[in-house]
Amino acid sequence: MQSKLIARAAPAVAAIQPYQPGKPISELARELGLSDIIKLASNENPLGPSPRAMAAMRAVEPELALYPDGNGFALKQALSRHLGVDAAQITLGNGSNDVLVLLAEAFLTPGTHAVYSQYAFAVYPLAVQATGAAASCVPATADLGHDLEAMAAAVSPETRVVFVANPNNPTGNFIDAERLRAFGEALPEEVLWVVDEAYHEYLAPEARYSALEWLADFPNLVVTRTFSKAYGLAGLRVGYAVSHPEVADLLNRIRQPFNVNSLALAAAEAALDDSAFLQQAYAVNQAGMARLSAQLDALGLAYTPSCGNFLLVDLARPALPVYDALLRKGVIVRPVGNYGLPNHLRVSIGTQDEMEYFCTVFEQVLKAS
Ligand SMILES: *Cc1c(COP(=O)(O)O)cnc(C)c1O
Repeated sequence: MQSKLIARAAPAVAAIQPYQPGKPISELARELGLSDIIKLASNENPLGPSPRAMAAMRAVEPELALYPDGNGFALKQALSRHLGVDAAQITLGNGSNDVLVLLAEAFLTPGTHAVYSQYAFAVYPLAVQATGAAASCVPATADLGHDLEAMAAAVSPETRVVFVANPNNPTGNFIDAERLRAFGEALPEEVLWVVDEAYHEYLAPEARYSALEWLADFPNLVVTRTFSKAYGLAGLRVGYAVSHPEVADLLNRIRQPFNVNSLALAAAEAALDDSAFLQQAYAVNQAGMARLSAQLDALGLAYTPSCGNFLLVDLARPALPVYDALLRKGVIVRPVGNYGLPNHLRVSIGTQDEMEYFCTVFEQVLKAS
C-alpha cells in the first residue's frame, strides 16, 4: 500500500538525492559524547550575529504572537537604500535558498531546461529537479571553476534559467567582472540569469564588484544574496533576490505569504548597516584563511584559491577516513563526495583559536592515517 502510494509521487521528486548538510554540533555530541566541538562545516560566521542584530531581535519579542510583515517593508526599504535599487526589485526569502527555489518554480516546468556548472552549489540541481525540468551540468574548468563558454553553448531554446555562483561554493572560485559580463551578453535575454553572491561580503575590496551594477542593462538578471554568511544569521534564514520588478512580481505570486519571520526581518535590517561588524568578519576571515593556507602549504596539500570563507582542500586520497578521524577529535568539516569530489574536504574559516586547533589536529590526523 505504501509502495503504491510512493510510486505515484511526482517522478522528479522521487529521483532527488537529498541535500547533505554539515553535521550539527549537537549530533556529534550525541554520537560520540564529546563536549568540545568546533564546526567548520557550513561556512557560518564564527563571530556569531552582530550585536545590533541581537538587540533588534530582543525588541521584537513582544510581537512574536503576531504574524510578521508579509511584505517585509522595513527590510526592503533598508536594502533599497543600502544597494541603491528600487524596493520593487527585491524579493525576500527564507534564506537565499528560498529565492533560488522560487526562481526555479517560476520559470521551470517539465520540458524546459536549466544550466549550471559541475561543482556549483548543490541547491541548483535540487531546485531544478523538483520542477521536473531537465538540466545541463556543464563540466568545470581544470581549476574547478565555471566554464562560461561551455555554459553559454549549453543554452538551448528550452533553456529558461542559468545559475552562476560567484564566488562559488564549495570551490571558492571567483569570476572577474569582464568575463562574467561577457557571459551575460552571450545569453539570450529571454533566459533568466541568476548570479548567486552569497559570499560577496568576503571579497577583497580591490577585487569586489557586484552583478547588481548591471541590472539596468540586463532585464533577465537576478542577483541573490544572503544574511547567512558574513552577517552571521544562518540560523534565522533570511536572504534576498534583486531583479527586474516584473520578475520580483512573479516570485511574489508563489512565495509563502509569511516566508520571512519577524526575528529574521528585524535582525537583518539591523545587521545590514553594521559595517564595523562586517569589517571584523572580513578581517577574521583573512587571518584564518592565511593561517590555514600556510598550514596546507607546509603539509604539501593542494587547495583551490578561495574568495569565500572556506577552503577546498585536495587530500589526494579518500577524504572520508580523514573526515571521520577529525570528527573523533571534535572537529566537523565538510566532505564533498556528493559534489563528485571524494578526495576533497571543505574547511570553513573559524576564529584564530579554532584555526590553530584545526591545524594541529589536522596534521596529527594526516600523520596517523
Ligand atoms: C550558503 C549559500 C547560499 C544560501 O544560503 P541561505 O542560508 O539559504 O541564504 C546560497 N548560495 C551559495 C553559493 C551558498 O554557499
